[in-house]
Amino acid sequence: MSIWANVAAGPTLPTDTVDAVVVGGGPAGWTAAVYLARACADTVVLAGTAPGGQLMDTGTVENFPGFPDGIDGPELMARMREQAERAGATVLTLDADEIRYAVGSDADEIRYAVGSSAPDKAVHEVVTADGTLRARAIVLATGSAPRRLGLPGESALGGGLGVAYCAVCEAPLFKGRDVAVVGGGDSAMEEVLALAQHARRVRLLHRHDSFRATPVLLKRVRQLRNVEIRTGLVVRALRRDDGGRLAGLTVERTATGATEDLAVQGLFVAIGHDPRTRLADRFLSLTATGHLHTTGPGGATELPGVFVAGDVADDRFRQAVTAAGAGCAAALETTRYLRHLEDVHA
Ligand SMILES: Cc1cc2nc3c(=O)[nH]c(=O)nc-3n(C[C@H](O)[C@H](O)[C@H](O)COP(=O)(O)OP(=O)(O)OC[C@H]3O[C@@H](n4cnc5c(N)ncnc54)[C@H](O)[C@@H]3O)c2cc1C
Repeated sequence: MSIWANVAAGPTLPTDTVDAVVVGGGPAGWTAAVYLARACADTVVLAGTAPGGQLMDTGTVENFPGFPDGIDGPELMARMREQAERAGATVLTLDADEIRYAVGSDADEIRYAVGSSAPDKAVHEVVTADGTLRARAIVLATGSAPRRLGLPGESALGGGLGVAYCAVCEAPLFKGRDVAVVGGGDSAMEEVLALAQHARRVRLLHRHDSFRATPVLLKRVRQLRNVEIRTGLVVRALRRDDGGRLAGLTVERTATGATEDLAVQGLFVAIGHDPRTRLADRFLSLTATGHLHTTGPGGATELPGVFVAGDVADDRFRQAVTAAGAGCAAALETTRYLRHLEDVHA
């Protein structure tokens, strides 16, 4: 049976209050769970009904330390899950549908943000389809999703077949190839800069005639000899070769509706990310980019006992290893918080 299966006979929702619930089954969540469980915290991971996170949509991950030959994204996620389970975390492939946060200025001064009065001090309630979990601390590691163009065949061309969302991750795979980047902001410029070091030619395609990107980045892009900037264009279709890989794009000139075919082997979509903040955006501040705002080290937030980790709080690095690092830091801070709770309630 697949390691990702929602095993009917597997762990069930604990009825006692647990130390920590980690929400999210990506690199940040699994790493937080490993550290929490190894610190002897009673830990439940709500890995979601689609566990594994963004790396489930990729082929070989070549930049995660410890795997000199690279590792398949889903395989890396399966190994992280196994490590969390071996450390003692209970993994449930359930979504957190709602969280009723215990809030207050300190762990010993708690009131409930939503719902009825708290049966315990400093206990948060996590609502799932199978019932409600009670936890002294929460690590939110719900990740984000890169925005897609929404073109037919786009999903099938992921996983190393030509359509990509992260040049830092995949640019070296396009050495000597012709690629295109779609976008007009700083992320798109960063993608172009990363790709220009490897690709033969990079076409930057933007629907408008002016760019949102900061002038210094745009200037750097304009100076590159192997970059061609094309404005006033939208991508209308993706073409595949006989092997199912990306072979080209059909683009449309917005002013005239005229179409043109471009031969490219790679298309990097850099039109933004949607962080999954739904569980907390009524209770926590958001950054200018819509990510969860942290108030201190280890992903501390305005809510005591609620920590955030990974891409849900990170618009800058967005890497598996930085998400894992953030998961580690959040778990260490959560452990300190749990000790503090013990002292307060002793
Ligand atoms: C196509 C692609 C290729 C990439 N390649 C690389 C690469 O080669 N190297 C690299 O370092 N990085 C790569 N990245 C980036 C990397 O995948 C992310 O930075 C990393 O996965 C972020 O980890 P995370 O744990 O914060 O979030 P995510 O990976 O997004 O995981 C979050 C998880 O939380 C779950 N979740 C969300 N809401 C809930 C809820 N309410 N209840 C329960 N669960 C929930 C989601 O279903 C998901 O499983 C790639 C990204 C993409 C999209």
